[in-house]
Amino acid sequence: MKNDRSHALFTRARELIPGGVNSPVRAFKSVGGEPFFAQRAEGAYLFDVDGNRYVDYVGSWGPMIAGHAHPQVLAAVERTMRDGLSFGVPNALEVTMAEAITQIVPSCEMVRMVNSGTEATLSAIRVARGATGRTRILKFEGCYHGHGDSFLVKAGSGVMTLGLPNSPGVPSALADLTLTLPYNDFDAATKLFDDVGNDIAGLIIEPIVGNANCILPRPGYLQYLRELCTKHGALLIFDEVMTGFRVALGGAQQLYGITPDLSTFGKIIGGGMPVGAYGGRRDLMAQVAPSGPIYQAGTLSGNPVAMAAGLATLELIRAPGFHDALAHSTHALCDGLEAAARDAGVAFTTTRAPGMFGLYFREGPVETFEDAKASDTARFNRFFHAMLERGVYLAPSAFEAGFVSSAHGAAEIALTVAAARESFALLRD
Ligand code: PLP
Repeated sequence: MKNDRSHALFTRARELIPGGVNSPVRAFKSVGGEPFFAQRAEGAYLFDVDGNRYVDYVGSWGPMIAGHAHPQVLAAVERTMRDGLSFGVPNALEVTMAEAITQIVPSCEMVRMVNSGTEATLSAIRVARGATGRTRILKFEGCYHGHGDSFLVKAGSGVMTLGLPNSPGVPSALADLTLTLPYNDFDAATKLFDDVGNDIAGLIIEPIVGNANCILPRPGYLQYLRELCTKHGALLIFDEVMTGFRVALGGAQQLYGITPDLSTFGKIIGGGMPVGAYGGRRDLMAQVAPSGPIYQAGTLSGNPVAMAAGLATLELIRAPGFHDALAHSTHALCDGLEAAARDAGVAFTTTRAPGMFGLYFREGPVETFEDAKASDTARFNRFFHAMLERGVYLAPSAFEAGFVSSAHGAAEIALTVAAARESFALLRD
């Protein structure tokens, strides 16, 4: 496979951009080798600067649920940009976007647009702290909520220990305020809430964990967290930056029938443009400036071109049957991969929700972060490169969920499974 141009670009990039990339996972550090540089993308495919074509299961890390460069999304962007790129005063598309989000996600009675998922989660915990007057927040091992200081925290030893910074630059005084629990562990949650539940401003969780591969909630788990939060006056925050508008039109909260107090979104609602949003109960969101005292702002928030791309994407995914078809494709892909692994005698399992999936080089089930970590990552890395050489781009890390879009049809899935048959055969030692 030719990679001269990508290699030359990466060499230049490494001189000037930390690690040669503007977001760490793109550097292929965990799978080894060098990243390819994109030239363009269309439907289910990415094309690199050396002319290689890949079936893309990353989808720009989630936004491209309707496929790359969808004509309706491009047309909306083109139409909107002709009127100007940013106004700095309100525009009608922001109102239409707020109406769309609050209609689709009933727990969001009010919503505020921001520019990334990170901004959304940072703002949501500020609201939680401001509204409750409490300082502690609670997160879960393996969940990622962007790069805000309060989230770059790992559990200390023992449930009650204060959080430890897991990046230089995160003050321990701030990390101390973040408590961490193992995901899907009912008893640990009970104990923590018994001990300090009344100090917790908000519990933030990826309802389906997409940043530790892909881990689904055990039956009743999210409902149990809802009850604990209600009982102790802590706010339940669903981080649906990844799951929102994907696993069901109304996100994981619709799929599991849970009503969080606050939710965070990103990715799909920007259709590929930089966007995030947070929203929730009216009495909470009404406390955000300027209607209330909790400050949050953004020069480009509600950007018209981003709103247009997001609204066009929402229109596409509101089509009847869209998510059923996505679920069908996800199952077809995962069943095909599991069958190919079985035939090759390779220990392998998948997890899946509509439009997203996890690949594990171990036997199932995978229900906890510990289970996910027990996957044979060296095998995943070999599989990743074997698939890449065969024109299939999986997430370049054993701990990232994969994404299926509506552009992944039977032909793309057949191509992927055929590549997997060859790749699994190479893994037989
Ligand atoms: N929350 C979740 C669940 C995410 O998956 C991500 C990014 O992948 C974020 C927050 C942060 O979003 P962004 O990268 O747009 O800042």
